[in-house]
Amino acid sequence: KIKLRVLVVSNRLPLSPVRGGPDSWSFKKSAGGLVSALRGIKDVEAMWIAWAGLNVPDSLGQSTLKDALAEQGCVPIFLDEELVKLYYAGFCNNIIWPLFHYLVLPQNDQLMVAHSFGSQFEAYKRVNQMFSDAVSKYYREGDVVWCHDYHLMLLPKFLKEANSKMAVGWFLHIPFPSVDIYRTVPFGPEILRSILAADLIGFHTYDHMTHFLCACNDILGLERTPEGVQDKGRLTRVAVFPIGIESDRFKQTLELPSVKEHINKLIQRFGGRKVMLGVDRLDMIKGIPQKILAFETFLQDNPSWIDRVVLVQIAVPTRTDVPEYQKLTSKVHEIVGRINGRFGTITAVPIHHLDRSVDFNELCALYAVADVALVTSLRDGMNLVSYEFVACQDSKKGVLILSEFTGAAESLEAGALLVNPWNTTQVASSIKKALIMPTDEREKMHMCNYAYVTTHTSQKWAETFLRALTDTAMKAQSII
Ligand code: UDP
Repeated sequence: KIKLRVLVVSNRLPLSPVRGGPDSWSFKKSAGGLVSALRGIKDVEAMWIAWAGLNVPDSLGQSTLKDALAEQGCVPIFLDEELVKLYYAGFCNNIIWPLFHYLVLPQNDQLMVAHSFGSQFEAYKRVNQMFSDAVSKYYREGDVVWCHDYHLMLLPKFLKEANSKMAVGWFLHIPFPSVDIYRTVPFGPEILRSILAADLIGFHTYDHMTHFLCACNDILGLERTPEGVQDKGRLTRVAVFPIGIESDRFKQTLELPSVKEHINKLIQRFGGRKVMLGVDRLDMIKGIPQKILAFETFLQDNPSWIDRVVLVQIAVPTRTDVPEYQKLTSKVHEIVGRINGRFGTITAVPIHHLDRSVDFNELCALYAVADVALVTSLRDGMNLVSYEFVACQDSKKGVLILSEFTGAAESLEAGALLVNPWNTTQVASSIKKALIMPTDEREKMHMCNYAYVTTHTSQKWAETFLRALTDTAMKAQSII
């Protein structure tokens, strides 16, 4: 049987190159959802095309990295520092990321953005064209091309212009905003038209998909059909493909003797206190200050819980060179310090806040010992942390408190306590509810979540998307 070849195109590679010398390279594996999703699918050969992820100005560096990555089935695209600044830090992270997550910038920043978005969009276009050129170079007849995320919204159109027969799919990993917000995106109509050049467009949730369809209708005047969007007789299929996790990997990790030992140590350390867990990148969209303030309200309203519960917050550093993110870090430290000062005792503090990532085994151990997971994103594409917690809770059957603004809230609705993270009072009362929930109720909720998470895996997600893409492309070809 011939394997389907998939060209996966994304901003980042599945491995991070580390330069050891002029011509020597090593790699750090990254464990994103997409990487593990593709690892598990049978009958598919994936070739990965992405930005190298670091500046390699010299030709020796570029050619040796290219060779080293070729052995891993990857193709790097080299971007100079100026392009990275305008395309990645600028258009992607300073314009699209906040707008798509409904984060309205403060006045000063808005003016700065307004001043520079023209040149940023030009860079964005250029980079998307470079990605398109790279794909064309490696494309062979019969391949399918799967483009990922908001970094590459112009790519489907460029690819189809290069070769109209190419089967092109595009998947958005972050929310698509409501049309009122989308209208404010500079060059929004052009971006919509470019995305629509794909054969298949995928979103995590019905809400994101509906927003997209409304935007196509309201802004471009295009007809919406049950399959997608119709434009002068050409159909672009639009559908929902909720991503999942590799749940077996979590379950297997919990069986490792070293992890079991670690779990026992953690249980001893926490000394009978209930453990609440937060695991987030330190990003504005994760609502970390809101979460900690709600925990403070809970302690204030329920003083008998002081010293009987701890909040462990893993805050993984992200975009640390951006002033907004530095300000957020200071803000969080200030609040944590205040609350620990207010409710701490000589021997214990209520919040353990860590500004770092933890390795996979330790993360699994933490998920397993937690009594409650607290996810308070202000807006989140899916939120895999909530799934990972569920996958590790089969013996404990803890409670998931989940923001209604995550994609995960659509799938875990029946098994989680849904909250509005802005409503501190509601989050505080949900914390109390979670901590005192009777065992049978906890078990029932956990079973709902567990059944979903262990069946809707990342592997299934990738398989379903790729099957839909090949079907759609085949149908399109037969019409031509
Ligand atoms: N994660 C990690 N290191 C850590 C803590 C978390 O790699 O120290 C992982 C976590 O296991 C999850 C991912 O980061 O798979 C976060 O994904 P999510 O969808 O929750 O949010 P995102 O960061 O993509 O916005």
